[in-house]
Formats: sequence, structure tokens, C-alpha cells
Amino acid sequence: MWDRKILRKIRKQVKAILALEKTMQELTDEQLAAKTEEFRQRLTNGETLDDILVEAFAVAREASRRVIGLHPYPVQLIGGIVLHNGDVAEMRTGEGKTLTAVMPIYLNALSGKGVHIITVNEYLAQRDAELNKPIFDFLGISIGVNLRDYTPQFKREAYAKDVTYTTNAELGFDYLRDNMVRSFKDKVQRGLNFSIVDEADSVMIDEARTPLIISGGSKNRTPLYQASDAFSKSLVPEDYKIDWESKQIALTVTGVRKAQAYFNLKNLFDIENSELFHHIQNALRANYVFKLDVEYVVKDGEIVLVDQFTGRLMAGRVYSDGLHQAIQAKEKVNIQQETTTVATITYQNFFRLYNKLSGMTGTAKTEEEEFVKIYNMRVICIPTNKSIIREDMPDYVFATLNAKFKALINEVKERNDKGQPILIGTANVDVSERISNMLRLEGIRHEILNAKNHAREAEIISKAGEFHAVTLATNMAGRGTDIKLAPGVNEIGGLAVLGTERNEARRIDNQLRGRAGRQGDPGFSRFYVSIEDDLIMRFGGEKLKKIFASLGDDFIKSKMLTRSITRAQQKIEGLNFDARKNLLDYDNVIAQHREAMYAQRDKILTSESVLDILKTMHRTVARDLLKIFSKVQGREQYIDYQALVTGTQNKLLKQGTLEPEVLKKMLPEEVIDLISEKAFEFYLEKRARLNEVIINQIEYATLLQVFDRFWTEHIDGLSKLRAGIHLRGYAQLNPLQAYIEEASKLFSLMTINIAHQVLIMLHSIDPDQIQVRSEEKILDTVLASNPETKTKIG
Ligand code: ADP
Ligand code: MG
Repeated sequence: MWDRKILRKIRKQVKAILALEKTMQELTDEQLAAKTEEFRQRLTNGETLDDILVEAFAVAREASRRVIGLHPYPVQLIGGIVLHNGDVAEMRTGEGKTLTAVMPIYLNALSGKGVHIITVNEYLAQRDAELNKPIFDFLGISIGVNLRDYTPQFKREAYAKDVTYTTNAELGFDYLRDNMVRSFKDKVQRGLNFSIVDEADSVMIDEARTPLIISGGSKNRTPLYQASDAFSKSLVPEDYKIDWESKQIALTVTGVRKAQAYFNLKNLFDIENSELFHHIQNALRANYVFKLDVEYVVKDGEIVLVDQFTGRLMAGRVYSDGLHQAIQAKEKVNIQQETTTVATITYQNFFRLYNKLSGMTGTAKTEEEEFVKIYNMRVICIPTNKSIIREDMPDYVFATLNAKFKALINEVKERNDKGQPILIGTANVDVSERISNMLRLEGIRHEILNAKNHAREAEIISKAGEFHAVTLATNMAGRGTDIKLAPGVNEIGGLAVLGTERNEARRIDNQLRGRAGRQGDPGFSRFYVSIEDDLIMRFGGEKLKKIFASLGDDFIKSKMLTRSITRAQQKIEGLNFDARKNLLDYDNVIAQHREAMYAQRDKILTSESVLDILKTMHRTVARDLLKIFSKVQGREQYIDYQALVTGTQNKLLKQGTLEPEVLKKMLPEEVIDLISEKAFEFYLEKRARLNEVIINQIEYATLLQVFDRFWTEHIDGLSKLRAGIHLRGYAQLNPLQAYIEEASKLFSLMTINIAHQVLIMLHSIDPDQIQVRSEEKILDTVLASNPETKTKIG
């Protein structure tokens, strides 16, 4: 699309960078390193990053040559510029993306606002930081690594550096945690300026399907899960219907009847049964749609999710809305108490917080629409340094899984006999185990990678290019590690990649093929496909089965089938995009609330005094009081000022400050003004009798505590709202619209409730009583007075 036009412009810049090569080489080390200070100066004097791009790239390029002996190729300069421009650079595996990033990192680090390099695991974060550190040390750019088990102090130091290497998960969790701190100085991050996401498709697309969640307190519903599970297991296939394409399951008429009998209900669909209905639904999905060792594995009594695209185990990730517990019930492991969400964000909305965002990966073009629509990033294909000579062969198609695996093992044997290294790509751990067993029977030595232990697997896969090496890997396993060919392997065809089935996305297939034939190496790739593969079964496999039955153990190379596989993949890619888009649509609603709350919270944390916030809250409450005390008599609506005055007396208002008779004669807006003014005065009077330092602390702590508590309840409420929204009868509205409307009501309600709660707590401070106690006691007393049920003044 736009690649050619953009590349033309970038090539001009690359030319200019290359033209500086000699000048840069003539500089002494000191002179070259001194460029950093010069650039910083020029930026202070008003030049922009774009103004100094060419020179800065030339400097970083030369520094790389001198310090680590790698001279970035022109295509790497192109990639670097794409990254600086905030787009996705699609560069094939082995093209040297780690080094490519050095130049835009250097340029953007000069601004001093921070550059984050995001990798998929901590092993890669550390590795890449180590690889590039000498260059940055030389240039006087500080670099840090942020890891999961670091103390806040360590994390803060890592984020304070010009450049920070870390993982997507850690970065997101740090962000959420930073918005839960009690004091501004406890934050570890210092803003989100520029980031480069490595393996961008994996992070920004695949992982973006599950939001980041920090959980808090819990509630125990174990019996309900067990009952729903037992009920589901009692069903026969006629009782439910599964739509494999969308992975939805529903009870049939007989199923509904059984449910009503089992749980002794009149009507399962009654709104009062909606929680049970939700549980049954989850139990059905757990038992009949989600498969052990495919969607999840059981490891040490825990359910661990498997990424459907990559086969990688997603430790710590859980299904939401009770599905996880339903699966735990199914597998008879300990049922985790359902936790409440304390903080949450989707990756999509997290990444959007950056001033500038860029990504690099070997495979992104097929997902360009998503990158553009969700992240506003274009995908630019960068030409390879040397042309690719890998042979990508057409798929072999078999009738059965058995025939497929048998033939696959034969090809492995043949190639292995010649000494050719082979990488077998599997879709999940299950298939890996199966192939491994078959290889063992044949006496073929091999290694298995499941993306469990990154450092060890990186070491194994780096040897996958040696003579006679046979390596079995799920898709993410060893990603990011170079497979270097042993001397002589070139002559026997390089690395051979064999795929055991086509994956759900074309991107993952391409990623697998791309493991071979790097930097102009010879290489080979072929996918083994059978009609019984999940992908084909999901899209009309039953019909094909008959047609292909006559094949026996033989295979065909069917263009027709290959085309329909591609179509099926496109369809799934589309469905998955929709699912992520849907997730995002809903998260966008919370995102607005989150931004408002986090901004308010930051304001509290950074203000010398929170009095102006309290003043506003007095107004909010005053306005609400008029609502609370408005009454309807006959057709007439009026405000019961007598009740208002009595109800707030001595709590919010000093006795005798307001006369109901006077209020009656005023306009409502005037009354609001008057009440909030008098109430605030009353508060100021009380607080003036307390030590300024102490009351400041109390106000601060009270605000934070109330904010956080209500916010947590709000997001919990929203997730319930979301789960049940389709059950509600909104005739004209689609569920998303209904959700948006309800959510915004809940949000205004929360704002009002927060104001009420804060004022209740602060106005209940009795200076006479409190003076005699020690300082911490006062704080404890106020915070402990926090009533669990929401009450309102009045
Ligand atoms: P990618 O992430 O694109 O798959 P890597 O960054 O892992 O690739 O680099 C692959 C290999 O290429 C590494 O061994 C690296 O040292 C090497 N490499 C990268 N750039 C250059 C270069 N300009 N000259 C020589 N070798 C390079
Ligand atoms: Mg890489």
C-alpha cells in the first residue's frame, strides 16, 4: 500500500546517513562520544528529533561498529527510521532487529523523557540490554532493566534511566500499581514517552486478548461451582448445542428442562436466576468447549492457560467472569476464591498512553488493519538484507492425523539421516508430546521446547542449526533467539522447518517458516495438514472427510484445500480481531473513567493541600441533598427544607446556620451555593482547631482510601454489568450502547457517593475528643470510622 511511498522518503534519509559514514569514522572516540552532549544541546536550543535524525543515526551506527563490531546494514537504518516514525517495522527473523532498535533508541533517548524497549520475556529483556549496553555506555546514554522481582527502589532506578528494557506484563502492572500508591514518591514510572515493542504482533495482538488485572479481596462460591459442574457432567449430548466456529454453547430444550429439575427452578431464564445461569453457562463451556492440554494445562494443581496462537503457557493469567473457577471445578483442583478486580487495563489502552509507540516483528502485515485501527501504526515491510532463498513447499494434505504424523516422521528420518537440522513446529504441547513419543520409538534424538524456561530454551534453540539436530517447538518457544547454522549445514540445504498443522493465523505460519533461511541462508519449509486438524474440522471438515477418505495413508498437494485453509485462517483472524475489538470497546468505557480517576488521584497526591477538592465535594453533596430531600405531593414536586436542615444539622452544618423558611424563598441554585458555603465554613472551623500537619494527613489519607474503595467497587460493578448486559431487556439498544449508558450513570453516582463518604468521615472528626490522642491514633480513628455500607449525609 503505502510502503513504497514511505520507503522512498526514508531511503533519502538513509542515503544521507550512509554519506556520513566516513566523517564519523574519522572522529576519535572522544569526539564521537561528545556528539551526545552536542545533540542534547541542540535539542535544548529548539531543534527537533527529526532535525538531528540523520546525524544521530550516523553516530549510533558508527558507535555500534566500534564498540561491538556490528555495522548496521542500510535495511537496518530503514527499520530504525520506521521505528522512530512510530510505525511497525516488519523485518524478517534474523535481520537483526535488536541492533536496528539501537539507532531510534539513541535518538529518542536524547530527549531525556525515557525510552522503553518491550520484549516478550525477561530473558530477552536482559539479553538485549546486555548486547546493546556497551554502545550506550560509550555514547553516554544510561540504560536499565526492569524485572518482575525487583524492589520498587530498583524499579524506580531502572525507569529513571534514559532507556529501560522490560516486558509488556511488567510495564503494565507497574503502571497499575503506580496508580494505587499512597504517596507520589512511591511511583516507579515517570511517564510513558516512547516505546519500541519487539515481537509486536505477539504482544500487541495475541496477548492483547486478555487484559491485565490486579486482584484484591475474595468471595467464596465454591459450592455453586461444584453444583454447576456436577450438573453439566450429568448431561448427554442432546442437552446442549455447540457452535464450534464461535465456541459458544447453549442448552437445548431438554437441557433447560434438566437444569430446572436439577436446581428446582420454575424458570431458568428468570432474572433472579441470572447468577446461577451464568454459572451453568461457564460449567458447560468448561466441560464441553474447553479442552485439557489444548486451551489449558493442569500444572501443580493449577490451571495454566495456553496461548492459542503460540502454544505458550501463560502463567498467572486467568479466565475471567468465573470461567476459571468452572474449569477448576471440572478438573477437580482447588477452586480459587473469586477475586475482586482492584485495577485493570487492556494492553490496547495501555499502549495508547504512550506519546509515541512503535513495534518490530517478522510478521505483522497480515494484521495491518488491526495495527492501524487500534494503535494508529502502519506496518512497513522492510526489504531483507540478502534475498531469501528458502524453499517454501506446498502443504501435504492427508486424510487422517495418523497418516499425517507417520509421513512427517518419515521425512524427519530421511533428512536426519543426511544430518540436516530440523525444526518441527507444533501448535500445542499435546502435539509436541505425541511427536516426541513417535521420534523416541524411531530412536531419533530430539529436544522439546514449550516456552516454559526461556533462558534454557534459548540455549537449546540456538543449537537447532547443528548437524542431526531435531528440535520440537511450540510457536513462541525460543522466539527471539537466532538459529545459526553450523559450518557445512549450508551444503545440505540449511535448516528444514516442518509444521505439524497450519495455525489459526497465517502470521504464525509465516513466523514458523521464517525460522529457516535467515540472512540469505538456504532453508526449507513444509506444512503437514490433515482433514482431522482442528482448523479444518472447524470449517467444514466433516464434508471433506468423505472426499479424502480414499487417500488412505497417501497425501495430495491440493491447491484447492490450501486456498480454503487460507480462507479459514482469514475468517478466524477476523473473528479474533472482532473479539479483541469488542474487548476494547468495553474497556474504552472504563478507560475514560480510569483516566479521570487516575488524574484526580494524582492531583491529590501532588497537591500541597486538598482543600479545593474538599470544597468541590461540599458542592457536590449540597446539590445531591436537594435531590435527596425532594418530595412529590400530588402532582407537585418540592424540597423538604425542614427535613434537610434537621438531617444535616451538626453533621454537615452547624446548628442554626440555615433557616428552612429562608431557604424556601430562594432559587435551588442559590440554596446549593449557600449550603455548600456554610458547610465548608463549618468544616474549616473544625479543622482550624486541629494541628495543621495532622489534619492535612487525615484529609489526604481519607480521600485516597475512599477513592480507591469506590473505584474498586466501580470496576467490579462494571464487569458485572457487562457480564449480564445481554440478559437485560433493552429493546432498542445494542448491548454495548446499553452498557455505555449504564456505566456512565454508575460513574456519576460514584462521584457523588465518594463526596458523601469523604465528608461523612471528615465532618465526624470531633476536635475536642481528638486533641487528647496521639497523632497516629487520630489517623487510625478516622480511617476506621469508615462505614462499610454506603451511607449518605442526611
Ligand atoms: P531478529 O531479532 O531480527 O530475528 P537478531 O537481532 O536476533 O535478529 O539478530 C540476528 C543475528 O544477526 C544476531 O546474531 C546479530 O548479531 C546479527 N546481526 C545483526 N545485525 C548485524 C549486522 N549489521 N552485521 C552482522 N551481524 C548482524
Ligand atoms: Mg529478535
